[in-house]
Amino acid sequence: MEEEEAIASSNVEEDAEETPVTFKSLGIVDVLCEACEQLKWKVPTQIQKESLPIALDGKDVIGLAETGSGKTGSFALPILQALLDTPQRMFALVLTPTRELAFQISEQFEALGASIGVKTAVVVGGIDMMTQALVLAKKPHVIIATPGRLVDHLENTKGFNLRNLKFLVMDEADRILNMDFEQEVDKILKVIPRERNTYLYSATMTKKVQKLQRASLRNPVKVEVSTKYQTVEKLQQSYIFLPVKYKDVYLVYILNELAGNSFIIFCSTCANTQRVALMLRNLGLTAVPLHGQMSQTKRLGALNKFKSKNRSILIATDVASRGLDIPHVDVVINLDIPTHSKDYIHRVGRTARAGRSGKAVTFVSQYDVELYKRIEHLTPMFALFV
Ligand code: AMP
Repeated sequence: MEEEEAIASSNVEEDAEETPVTFKSLGIVDVLCEACEQLKWKVPTQIQKESLPIALDGKDVIGLAETGSGKTGSFALPILQALLDTPQRMFALVLTPTRELAFQISEQFEALGASIGVKTAVVVGGIDMMTQALVLAKKPHVIIATPGRLVDHLENTKGFNLRNLKFLVMDEADRILNMDFEQEVDKILKVIPRERNTYLYSATMTKKVQKLQRASLRNPVKVEVSTKYQTVEKLQQSYIFLPVKYKDVYLVYILNELAGNSFIIFCSTCANTQRVALMLRNLGLTAVPLHGQMSQTKRLGALNKFKSKNRSILIATDVASRGLDIPHVDVVINLDIPTHSKDYIHRVGRTARAGRSGKAVTFVSQYDVELYKRIEHLTPMFALFV
């Protein structure tokens, strides 16, 4: 009997393999399927396959997935599809932890919704409140916001409210909560309608996320794609053991040896990021810094210069270690070793994306042995002798 069942289920799997899953077969309407095609999204990613049918069925979703998995599509498509059904302003709110992610998400909404004329507004810190208030007054369909600035508008911008909201997305919920946005999120939850759909996406299911889930979702369905602690096969990971005082010299040597590639160099502080950027520029290298103490315009400018390949070296703090979708990074250099081994995985995850190969080099000084051991425990590296 058990054998029969096993055979029956294996047939089901074979059948499933024969009919390829498409956006259409998952229930996405033609106009949005065409938008996916234009973005060259040929087949749905794993998280999209799993979450789209549930979301299109009108259910709340908890998605355990990281940036890079295609999770933006998995919440943007059902929202746009619902918007097509019932066109309405101030339809959806996406909360996300960082400004860069907010712009990235808005770009995807605009690209997917271009042919249906969707209007989005990005509401993040570092940009003039008045200008944002004017954009909000035009009543966009989708608002993508960091929690702090959104609360600021809810409290201080006359005429702005979210009383007609139909969809709430909490993107990278674990990070939102780790960044102490808990109070802001609570405030937002209090002023939006209970009658709505909620999608909660998080890389990890922490206690705080569970609490938020209980407070904000109704009978959610959980979908999970496991990328946790996985580093890709095509990633060559190495370390250099060196005295701390030689870090700069070794860095410049490696940059010269691997010239022609694009690099992200991670530092632990804003000050060191700035210092290294100045040093490399003085040496004639095209380097640009990205850290939390830069103004929003400068951060976006830096990122765009790097993305458009005008600059080949981005020097960043962990602001850039998670979430940024920069497809062409060839080499990640950890000039300062990350304090949390999870951050290591996120940092090196900036390279070897989308099936390409990549290199990661971690500098280990006499002070970093403990931290190095913790990372080595997660993922093996080989020693690099230069
Ligand atoms: P995300 O995880 O949402 O930040 O997406 C990461 C990257 O994957 C973005 O550049 C998307 O444009 C891209 N992407 C999302 N869905 C698909 C898909 N089905 N096929 C190919 N690329 C995709």
